[in-house]
Amino acid sequence: HAKNEGGDNFYFFRESMNKESQKRLVLENDMNNGLCNAQFVPYYQPIVDLRSGWIVGVEALARWHHPDRGLVMPDEFIPLAEESGLITTLGQQILQQACLQVKQWMDQHSQELTLAVNLSGRQFNSKELVQDIQGTLEEAGFSHGNLILEITESMMMGHVDRVRNQLDQLHATGIKLAIDDFGTGYSSLSYLQHFPLNSLKIDRSFVTHLLNDRNKRAIVKAIISMANAMDLDVVAEGVESREQALYLKQLDCKKVQGYYFSKPLPAIQFEKLLTNENSRFNFNCTDNDFVD
Ligand code: C2E
Ligand code: MG
Ligand code: MG
Ligand code: MG
Repeated sequence: HAKNEGGDNFYFFRESMNKESQKRLVLENDMNNGLCNAQFVPYYQPIVDLRSGWIVGVEALARWHHPDRGLVMPDEFIPLAEESGLITTLGQQILQQACLQVKQWMDQHSQELTLAVNLSGRQFNSKELVQDIQGTLEEAGFSHGNLILEITESMMMGHVDRVRNQLDQLHATGIKLAIDDFGTGYSSLSYLQHFPLNSLKIDRSFVTHLLNDRNKRAIVKAIISMANAMDLDVVAEGVESREQALYLKQLDCKKVQGYYFSKPLPAIQFEKLLTNENSRFNFNCTDNDFVD
C-alpha cells in the first residue's frame, strides 16, 4: 500500500511538473513571439509634484497586448521574462518606445518630463546593459538627465560590485537612479551611501495605511526626512486619496504617484491628460481639509 501510494504521489508530482513546465514553455514561446510582433507596449502613469500640482514625470509600465488573451499585466509575464532571459529584450523594447514617446510629448508641449523605467536584476547580467541603454537614448535623442532607472533594494544586495560598477557607469552618463518599493527590502540603510542614487520611491504598502497605522506613518515620516536630509528625491507610490496626498505634502514629500491622479494609461490617453488644462492638481489645503 505504502509503496503504491508513494508511486502514485511520485507520478502525480512528475505529471504536475510536466504540466507546469509545459505551460511555461508555451508562455515563453508566446512571449518570444509577442516580442517579435510588437505586442509589448508601455503604459504611462503620471508622477505629480505636490507643491505645484503639475505632472513632472511618468513611469513606463509594460503591458502585453496578447492576440487571444487581451491585455496581460506584468505580474503574469515579468517573472518568466526574468527566468528566461527575455527581460533583456523586453526591457529594451519598453525603454525604446517610452523614450520616443516621452521625447515627442516634451517637444510638442515644451514641457520637461522625467521618464522612469523599471530595470530588473537579471538585466545586469548582460555586459551590454550600459551600452544598450545609451544607444537607445541616443537613437531617440532623449537626454540622459531625464531618464530615471528604477531598481530594487535586493538588486543592489545581490552582486554588489558588478552591479555597482554598471550603476556607476550609468550615473556617469547623467542617467538617474531610483530605488523602487523602498522600505520592503533590505533592512540596513547603510548601503544607500554606496550607490549613486537620486530618489527613493516609498512602497505602496506604507502609503495605503498612512492614515490609520501609526507604525507605517512613522516609517514614512522617517523615510521622507532621511531622503530630504540626503538630498534624495522622494516619490510616494500608491496614493489613492486626496487625504493621503495632503498628508504626504504636510510631511514634505515632494512627489506622488497613484490611482488618485491616474492609473497607468495607454499613450493616447496619457497625452489627453497632459494637454488637459484641468489636469493640474490642486493641493493647497482649504479649511475643509482636515489633516492630522
Ligand atoms: P512598480 O514598478 O512598483 O510599479 C508600480 C505598480 O503599482 C504598477 O503596477 C502600478 O499600476 C501600480 N499602482 C500605481 N498606483 C497605484 C495605486 O494607487 N493603487 C494600486 N493598487 N496600485 C497602483 P503594474 O503596472 O501592474 O506593474 C507591477 C510591477 O511590474 C511594477 O511595479 C514593476 O516592478 C514590474 N514592471 C512593470 N513594467 C516593467 C518593465 O518594463 N520592466 C520590468 N523589469 N519590470 C516591470
Ligand atoms: Mg517602478
Ligand atoms: Mg518594482
Ligand atoms: Mg514600486
